[in-house]
Amino acid sequence: MPNQKTEPILEVKGLKKYFKVKGLRRKSRNHQVKAVDDVSFTLHKGETLGLVGESGCGKSTTGRAILRLIEPSEGRVLYRNEDILQKSNKGFRKVQKEMQMVFQDPFSSLNPRIRIGESIKESLTIHSIGNRKEREEIVINILDKVGLRPDHYYRFPHEFSGGQRQRIGLARALVANPSILILDEPVSGLDVSIQSQILNLLQDLQDEFKLTSLFISHDMSVVRHISDRVGVMYLGKVMEEADTDTLFSNPVHPYTQALLSAVPVPKIGKKRERIILKGEIPSPLNPPTGCIFHTRCPYAMDICKSKVPEKIQIQDRHTVACHLYS
Ligand code: SF4
Repeated sequence: MPNQKTEPILEVKGLKKYFKVKGLRRKSRNHQVKAVDDVSFTLHKGETLGLVGESGCGKSTTGRAILRLIEPSEGRVLYRNEDILQKSNKGFRKVQKEMQMVFQDPFSSLNPRIRIGESIKESLTIHSIGNRKEREEIVINILDKVGLRPDHYYRFPHEFSGGQRQRIGLARALVANPSILILDEPVSGLDVSIQSQILNLLQDLQDEFKLTSLFISHDMSVVRHISDRVGVMYLGKVMEEADTDTLFSNPVHPYTQALLSAVPVPKIGKKRERIILKGEIPSPLNPPTGCIFHTRCPYAMDICKSKVPEKIQIQDRHTVACHLYS
């Protein structure tokens, strides 16, 4: 596991993405959905940070905002100490080569009429890497790295299974030799046996390509398997962040404790008491005041309804936003 002494390669500071939503009635005022609200974290070289939380917590929006697939409302994203949100389109294109995204459904981003080899090659053409012959060689080499054959170059997207399509997604992301991968639910749509094949492949590729990764998932078990550190998100905010072993053995935020109580314990005879949270996740259109988790928290106090808890460090590399610890 990379330690904190390795250089930070990506620093996300106070990232916000607010969406304007029009009121239903003609004269009603506009609302804001705070999809990502003041998210900060640092990725060190070679490390994998898992971003986990229930559907709609803002984890995918965070990944997309970092890559400017949607423009953030506020905040800074420093790649090797340079704020990439301040770059012109031309300047940002150079950074794009270094930061690639893998989506849950790679099929939707593939043109059904273009052969797979050509689709993978696109990124090399965009970034002017190699001549025609060299590009083909690079693509055949990357097909091999992700466990596909050279003849797959000439096939069309519909000829591949779900697992093979995710291998193609990885090949497309890796072909230009990036430094950072942002993976958004990359194994969610796959059978469990295929999931583990893709996760193992991903780990091998991370080692071989010396990648730094942000791994976004709703699945705690998957995140535990792949991540060095984990950030837990709820309604657009990071509630707790720690090294994976620490987070799974000593979760301190009530929300993390509830999420983990639903994960099966691998040891026979060992049981974890399930914490059932009351109510539904509140609407992001009208989030609770104070601590956004107070409407569901079993330990909520008066202060939680009015004061937003600050993120505090309770141990080395272990932070939490909760009044129980302030
Ligand atoms: Fe629960 Fe209060 Fe902590 Fe929020 S700040 S998680 S409501 S105890």
